[in-house]
Amino acid sequence: MFDPQKIKHDFPIFKRRINGKPIVYLDSTATSLKPRSVIDKENEYYTKYTANIFRGIYTLSEEATAEYEAVRVKVARFIGATNADEVVFTRNTTESINLVAASIGKTLEKGDEVVVSVMEHHSNFVPWQQRAQKKNVTFKVWDPREKLETIITRRTKVLALTAVSNVLGTINPVKKIVRIVKTINPQCIVVVDAAQAIPHMKVDVKEWGADCVAFSSHKMLGPTGVGVLWGKMELLENLSPYQYGGEMISEVYVEKTLFKKPPYKFEAGTPHIAGVIGLGAAIDYLKKLGMDNVRQHEMKIVAYALEQLKLVEGVTIYGPKERCGVIAFTMKGAHAHDIAQILNEDNICIRSGNHCAMPLHTHLGIPATARASFYIYTTKEDVDSLMNGLEKVKNKFL
Ligand code: PMP
Repeated sequence: MFDPQKIKHDFPIFKRRINGKPIVYLDSTATSLKPRSVIDKENEYYTKYTANIFRGIYTLSEEATAEYEAVRVKVARFIGATNADEVVFTRNTTESINLVAASIGKTLEKGDEVVVSVMEHHSNFVPWQQRAQKKNVTFKVWDPREKLETIITRRTKVLALTAVSNVLGTINPVKKIVRIVKTINPQCIVVVDAAQAIPHMKVDVKEWGADCVAFSSHKMLGPTGVGVLWGKMELLENLSPYQYGGEMISEVYVEKTLFKKPPYKFEAGTPHIAGVIGLGAAIDYLKKLGMDNVRQHEMKIVAYALEQLKLVEGVTIYGPKERCGVIAFTMKGAHAHDIAQILNEDNICIRSGNHCAMPLHTHLGIPATARASFYIYTTKEDVDSLMNGLEKVKNKFL
């Protein structure tokens, strides 16, 4: 049985007390906490086989390389990719998207259009906006309530879309969207920001049918400093490298350089070896729980939290009923930062501000929201603590 209280025991941070009080962590959308197995696995690299990968013909380096490459296969299987060479390791979602935007950006021509949705995180908005501006091509913002047919044209080179909103929790029907887009324009490249999807639900990138998918290790129990870009091999083969340097080349001459095949041509320099190896342990942990169970648990918790939040006077909730484990809300008379500050007095960790989604907040006509988000270790008691904290806020501000 899925028991978040038991799961908490796997996370050393929950032993911590601040001012004698336990931690109520409701900010997993920003980053998830890390289980002992991930921390230990990352440490294992440093204590048992520290060496650079690919470079050494000695046991330590061979062990490190084998561990690192095994995670590439593990990631591929986890997201339904058949070819592990389609998995590129980066630093985070942001870098994965910048890689694609920089490479595709070079190919943008007059008359092309780039489309993003209004609910994008800045990391899937600004890279496209900047490339479009640099190349003087049209940059369009799509409100997902509008029909795609009104925005995607034969000139649309890219649609950049989040699978799950980090503010509203909206789960976009990626498969359906890709199908419509490709019917209108088969050449349109669909880039999916899956930072909030991969950690929370079963994802099959092949089923989605998108051209590339970006996500971060640190939001799925893994270490910070590691991201993934999955891309269809035909696309990766045609994209130019993002950075140049060691390990991404096959031959270098004064006149020219020949690059390795994907994924290596996108992995210049020494990567975060320990982090990638730690991500492998995070995937093991999630697979053991089962992604369908993860989603089921979050659905229960978010439904309970929505129900409770509605009872708090002066609260406005944003986003749909059916959603991922994240709730953005405002409270009459209290700024989001005040809410977060008062909750912090009881170690209740929530986020406040625009959550790197300023265009969405502008669209909603609000400057900031408070945001509580949930994951595998969130209990009903954590939600109750949030409600008690909000009562305090209400008494102070309403
Ligand atoms: N996209 C979404 C939907 C996110 O929630 C986040 C993180 N808040 C990002 C992108 C950026 O992730 P990272 O900071 O790991 O690059």
